[in-house]
Amino acid sequence: MEQTVHFILKGVLDRSLAETVLDEIGERPYIHYRADGSGLFSIDFYAACMLKDRVLKLGGQFAILDLSDECRIALQYCGWPVHDGVALVAAENPTTENSNLEVSGGEPEAPCPGCGKGLKIDGVGLYSCPVCGTHFHADNRGRTTPYESMHLSQ
Ligand SMILES: [Zn+2]
Repeated sequence: MEQTVHFILKGVLDRSLAETVLDEIGERPYIHYRADGSGLFSIDFYAACMLKDRVLKLGGQFAILDLSDECRIALQYCGWPVHDGVALVAAENPTTENSNLEVSGGEPEAPCPGCGKGLKIDGVGLYSCPVCGTHFHADNRGRTTPYESMHLSQ
């Protein structure tokens, strides 16, 4: 059972906002959290680093979408992996009921949901297909979801 909680971040990502997010994630770290970051205009480095470290420690997953260039660069500076404008922190071993189902060994591959080509993936994250350009999310079992269908209807 996978759940995703969507919310909106506005203003400055500072320590108090980071702690609010962490309180939420700490209660249910097995849920995926996705935030709309289009309303953020500033990122506090200390808060962003703390947020990343604590999410990883909790075994959670937290993505921030629609970031401005400045905020994206600030998050990258703090060590957040950014793919296609989405900053995503995901624990290597997510806290799920079935974490033992994780694929082990070999190079993980997932099929592109657009053209079906097997693509090398590196854990949970957002990817784009070099063949057809489809953006998709891969989960820890190699399942892929087209990025567009996750939050927009086409
Ligand atoms: Zn493709």
